[in-house]
Amino acid sequence: MKSNHIDTAIHLEKLYLVVKGDKKVLAKTKILKSGKFEMSFTPRTEVSFDFYCVGIGVDTIMIASVTSFVSDTPDVTFYLPARTKKNTAGQVVCLKCNKSDKIYSISYSDHQPITKNYLNSAGAIMQSIAVNKDFTDDRNYYKLATKYCDRDKVEF
Ligand SMILES: [Zn+2]
Repeated sequence: MKSNHIDTAIHLEKLYLVVKGDKKVLAKTKILKSGKFEMSFTPRTEVSFDFYCVGIGVDTIMIASVTSFVSDTPDVTFYLPARTKKNTAGQVVCLKCNKSDKIYSISYSDHQPITKNYLNSAGAIMQSIAVNKDFTDDRNYYKLATKYCDRDKVEF
């Protein structure tokens, strides 16, 4: 796990890595301070394996979606937030469905409480929600997710 965020103060050791397949949690593991993690689960017939980061001060954020592994003990590096891909039109595509048509941009406002705004491609606010914080120190809220896919209901 490597921090891909401009705020280098993010504490990786406060985060958990979760993998879901067919919407079920297959494994959850704590990330070490160094960013290293070990995770063990047995793939069965799942269509894809979706990796998320969860933790104090971080909303559930998708960091990868993979359909298969190169080996039984793959050595993978994830970035937080994920390095996104763009289509030929230059639009960011979803980590999971690889499409751009249901993607919203996320912006944050620093009023109390922090609100998260979902913007359409024209920049208009489509939805605005108060950030669900499970801690009390506002300074420790990391605005990591910048995109939302309404098809998969994931932020990344
Ligand atoms: Zn999607």
